Amino acid sequence: MRLPESYVYLDWAATTPLCQEACDAMAPFLVPGVGNIEFGANANSLHTPGRNAFSAMEDARVRIARAVGAGRPSEVVFTSGATESNNTAILGLVEARVRRERQRGNKGYAPHFITSAIEHDAVLSLLPLLRDRGCEVTVLKPDRGGHVPVAALREALRPETALVSLMWANNEVGSLQDIPALADAAHAGGALFHTDATQAVGKVPVDLRASGVDAASFSSHKVCGPKGVGALYLKTGVACEPLLMGGGQEQGRRSGTQNVAGIVGFAAACEASCAMVAAERGRLQALRDELYARLCDGGRAKPSAVDARDAREASYLPNIVNVLVPGIESETLILQLDLAGFAVSGGSACSTGSLEPSHVLSAMGIARDEALCSLRVSMGRYTTHDDVVRFVEAFRRVVE
Ligand code: PMP
Repeated sequence: MRLPESYVYLDWAATTPLCQEACDAMAPFLVPGVGNIEFGANANSLHTPGRNAFSAMEDARVRIARAVGAGRPSEVVFTSGATESNNTAILGLVEARVRRERQRGNKGYAPHFITSAIEHDAVLSLLPLLRDRGCEVTVLKPDRGGHVPVAALREALRPETALVSLMWANNEVGSLQDIPALADAAHAGGALFHTDATQAVGKVPVDLRASGVDAASFSSHKVCGPKGVGALYLKTGVACEPLLMGGGQEQGRRSGTQNVAGIVGFAAACEASCAMVAAERGRLQALRDELYARLCDGGRAKPSAVDARDAREASYLPNIVNVLVPGIESETLILQLDLAGFAVSGGSACSTGSLEPSHVLSAMGIARDEALCSLRVSMGRYTTHDDVVRFVEAFRRVVE
């Protein structure tokens, strides 16, 4: 079904539209037929087209490393997206610690892993597997604003803690964690620190080296790049067992022929969105605050996250609004707003379709009845003030 021209996309946390920069960068790779081989060869081949593809890929690595503040381009490992990056980091970093302890003769070592209850399913779904492998797991609870207190991490750390994984920015309510303080605490306890930075890159300043993290995951399709490509930042010297084994690409850290066209599009999009953070953050924040004010103005809607510090500016993403509309279930809201010409979401796109309330809102202490009635509006570089004004009018018609 074709969308009417007036249709407004407000589900940027689920995925983003492709930007012009990524489109232009990928164009030479999307030529059909033999002409494609000028750039479309295997980046690991020795002939001229192979070397062309390799240098395009390495140029992309340099640009992504610079955009997110990696110390060296070789710290960026290309993957299929943040799901794979999270899986690789968590399973691989824990496994590397086990291997090291065994090599040191510590045969009885059982690893311990710490994460939080508001992580993406690409982290939480790993917990049963980790437990099956003999890893103990601690899941930290966030506060009512969706923040994980540093003190809670300090208390949970043990000498055998191999890894702490806490997301930089939450994809449902937009809460930002104090990553440098959490990474410091993990290191003080002798553990490594991984962050899922998927929703943070391109929305808030991300300087991976300055943040002190050992590993970070992020994804192209959240920054207006193509889908199916992402990156895992692995700080130099940090050992991580690979998840995918085969041809030894990505210095043995991720086998499989690289998606060069996708990687080049990812770099152009990542560079453009990170360069825009300074200007876009304030603009989106103003739209976000106007949305919160107007959606919750005397009606039945209220913000989902209640932050005791009331510091929305510093501790939430600029582009996510999450409200509860008691009495109207998310599914009804989404479908009615879609009919009215607006794409929004309930919890995360990945978990919609289930009748369970969002695990993020539940972990924040929101009762099941209310959590079932949440609405997430998420914005990006093409969202205008007019979109927001029109959305508020449609929301009022649907809710009242
Ligand atoms: N982590 C977070 C916080 C996300 O929002 C998403 C996307 N919903 C992912 C991981 C998974 O990313 P990808 O789609 O690139 O696998």
